[in-house]
Amino acid sequence: MRYLVVSDIHSNLPALDAVIADAGSFDRIWCLGDITGYGPDPNECITRLREFPLTTLAGNHDWAVLGLLDLADFNQDARAACVWTRQHLTAENKEFLRSLPVMLEEDGYTLVHASPSEPVEEYVLDSLSAEYNFDKFNTPVCLLGHSHWPVAFMRPPDSTGLCVQVRPVYFQPFQFNGGKWIINPGSVGQPRDGNPDASYALLDVEEGQWEYRRVAYPVEETQRRMRQHKLPERLIQRLQHGH
Ligand code: ZN
Repeated sequence: MRYLVVSDIHSNLPALDAVIADAGSFDRIWCLGDITGYGPDPNECITRLREFPLTTLAGNHDWAVLGLLDLADFNQDARAACVWTRQHLTAENKEFLRSLPVMLEEDGYTLVHASPSEPVEEYVLDSLSAEYNFDKFNTPVCLLGHSHWPVAFMRPPDSTGLCVQVRPVYFQPFQFNGGKWIINPGSVGQPRDGNPDASYALLDVEEGQWEYRRVAYPVEETQRRMRQHKLPERLIQRLQHGH
């Protein structure tokens, strides 16, 4: 099975379409949550994902749109985008989001939006937060999103110290050779690592092989649609800087 692994699409259809076109052939999409929030095309992104064999989680923004998370936890811009999304999302798509888990095991992998210990809201950004989470899942590899940073943490088989942080090298497939892994494909629709290109990954389960990828997309098209809907200017600007 060859999976297209995506996360944090955040209603950015041009970015999602660029990723799908760039990915080549795949058998199924694994989406790690936050399909909605921030961007202008929440319904269109859900529709596009559902055109493919799909396993998707809900993320904190999806929960906030549904009223399952307190908007007070969000900054002003995220809150405004969330309220806008709530007003524009169809009843059918709200029902779809409501049906989604926040963590599951599939094909020998753990999938979670934020972290195995706090599936909706914890950021795994450093070796310390990763280390704490290594004992909270039962498969060799845990895929997660939420931080919008493509990054991996690896605990070697006989490790006594902290896990190792592994930075992404794009278009260079590598294998999960032993050890335990926590790995983030980065964000499709709102990268925050200083690179505005959409971030995603391809996973070949038989080979245990992961490939990080980046692809440029028409950022200005997403920005145009955000302006059209009067979404917050700061959210519009950040897309071209990738932060
Ligand atoms: Zn997100």
